[in-house]
This record gives sequence, structure tokens and C-alpha cells, in this order.
Amino acid sequence: MKEIRMVDLHTQYLRLKEEIDAAMQEVIGTTAFINGPAVNTFAAHLAEYTGAQHVIPCGNGTDALQAALAALQLDPGDEVIVPDFTFIATVETVALLGLTPVVADVDPDTFLLQPEHVEALITPRTRAVIPVHLFGQCVDMEPLLEIARRHGLYVIEDAAQALGTRYAFSDGTEKMAGTMGHIGCTSFFPSKNLGAFGDGGALFTDDDDLALFLRSYVNHGTTKKYYHSRVGINSRLDTLQAAILDVKLRHLDEFISARQHVAARYDEALSGLSFLQTPARAPRTTHSYHQYTLITRGIDREHFREHLKQAGIPSMVYYPLPMHRQEAFSRYPFFEKEYTVSDRLCATVVSLPIHTEMEEEQLDHIIQRIKAYTP
Ligand SMILES: *Cc1c(COP(=O)(O)O)cnc(C)c1O
Repeated sequence: MKEIRMVDLHTQYLRLKEEIDAAMQEVIGTTAFINGPAVNTFAAHLAEYTGAQHVIPCGNGTDALQAALAALQLDPGDEVIVPDFTFIATVETVALLGLTPVVADVDPDTFLLQPEHVEALITPRTRAVIPVHLFGQCVDMEPLLEIARRHGLYVIEDAAQALGTRYAFSDGTEKMAGTMGHIGCTSFFPSKNLGAFGDGGALFTDDDDLALFLRSYVNHGTTKKYYHSRVGINSRLDTLQAAILDVKLRHLDEFISARQHVAARYDEALSGLSFLQTPARAPRTTHSYHQYTLITRGIDREHFREHLKQAGIPSMVYYPLPMHRQEAFSRYPFFEKEYTVSDRLCATVVSLPIHTEMEEEQLDHIIQRIKAYTP
């Protein structure tokens, strides 16, 4: 049996080698490494795929979040509501821009930001909310958008883990993760649903003015060459990455199906075990399973992980420390306050290997070893 990995980017590359190598050679042949034609081509294809009016490529998902927040042109100290259980980039970018993050606890089963928690945290200074579509499911956007509309808040989606996930509104319309708020952000970090061979990111918006700002912001605040109307950053998707991503985008739905197949096998095999809770499905959303995250119940998580490790099965803890306990945020009022759900999740979650190249034999082995676990 092939070595089991959390993600297997190499095997995926070998499967797509011909297409990817050809795309890379073409870029190398033209040496248009920065802002080459592949960047616009990929952005156009991504717009088609997601249904977004504007796709603005950038250097990584964190820059996308920073650009999105900058585009709102908020005042220092304005409040932005974020989930406590997320990757730091969601919250760090708020702090970096001099805005005040306000942290919300999450749903104990789906790990997601809950609209009613957001509403409870709104103050006269609240300007925006960042729903994070964590692990590949969408936050319940319909009620969240309604709350945002009522309170005049901007909604910035962090869709770094959920590109390709769909959400269904009650009127029957379906939208892609990242295209429901004012601005959506995604990441092409190699292990993400659509991964580059390095860093990459993109912004989505249907608003022409926001799109104009974002394009300018990620390009030194440029309006025309060497004329800068604002202070911006240098955050580009390089041409080689765009060419690779354009190839892989054609396979994204197939990648997601492969992840869903792995998840379905885990669900079926593990849902009866008393010491594990399989991932709960959130309403109205598909699941692209960026991660397959279990909640352990009444067992020593590290003992369980060691049992897996002995059998050659890697596992990870996403995430071991919630935002309200990160030293980086010690100056904010939420620091070390009580967030019972995220504290419990950080102490009990464990993520299993899930990727596009998993073999049935590997899945059989993982399932068999988990079932054989005795606390
Ligand atoms: C990966 C990730 C980011 C940041 O993306 P980078 O491309 O690594 O900067 C932001 N938010 C979430 C939830 C992520 O998983």
C-alpha cells in the first residue's frame, strides 16, 4: 500500500502532468512571468466557474482578506465580527488594518459562525462580518445576509477552504462560496481545494466600484502606470501559478467529488462509533471537504492519534488554539474571555487524511484501524 498522507499533491501532479507541464512550458517560453496572459485567462475562467462578476487575482488568501477589508474604507477602531474557530488570517488582517476584531463563538457541530451569534455582538461600531466557510461548508448565508442588511454591515466571505462549495437560498437560487457577500476571498495555497504550486489568491465581487478599488489596491494603489491614487500593496498571482491553476480549475469539480467519496466512506464506517462524532452537515450547503474533521468523545485525543500513527496513518488538529487565546490578540477585550464551544472543539477535534488521490486500500486500512481502537 502506498504511504498515506494528509494530502498527496505529488500523485495528483503525476496524473495531470502532461497538461500542467505544457502550461508551464508555455509560460516559460514567453517569459511573461508577471501579469502574463494566463493570469487574465484564469481569472475569466474562474469568473465563469463561480458566477462572480469580477475576479481579482492576488498573491495569497491573506492578502485577499486584507484587500477586501481595505476596500471597505472603514475608520480605525471600527468593529468586524469574526469566528473564534478559524485560521489566524481571518482575524489577523482585521487587526493589521487597525480595525477591531470582535470574536464570535461557533456552532458545536458544524464548526461554523452562527448568524444569531453575530447579531448578538453587533454594536453601533460594527461595520462588517467575515463568515468563514470552514472545512468546506458554507455558513448559513441567507439569515446572515439578512442580519447584515438590517444593520448596514458589509459581508466579506472567507472562502479559502470552500472554493467550489454551493449554497442554496430559499428562493431556489444557488450560489458559490465567495460570491454571496460584498466581497469573497479565496486561497490557492497548495493544499486548498484548488491549489497552486506555491502561493496564490483571488477576490470575488459583483460591485464595480469595489472591483476597481481591489484591482488598484493589490497593484500599489495604481490607477494608471506610475500614478497611485492610494497606498496599496504588491500582491500578484504570478503567471506560472495562473497557468497551473487554469489547468487544475478544469478538474475542480472532479477533485471535489473525489473528496466527497472519501468523506462518504468515512461517514458510513465511523458514524456508529461511540468515541467519534462524524462531521455534521450544515443546512443548504454542499460540502467540499477541504478537511474531514471528527470530534472525539470521552477519549484521549493524543492517545488516539498515536494509535493511528503506529499504523502509518497521519492526522492533524485544525485548530489547537482558538483566536481568543492567541497571544497576538492579547490587547483585545475578547482575549481569554469565555468561549466554551471553540475551547471544547480545540481540545477534541481531529482531522483525517482526505485528498483527491486516496485509494480504496488506504481507506480500508484507515477505517479498520479506527474501528480497532480501544481507549
Ligand atoms: C488558508 C486560509 C487563509 C489564508 O490563505 P493563504 O493563501 O495561506 O494566505 C485564510 N483563511 C482561511 C480560513 C484559510 O484556511
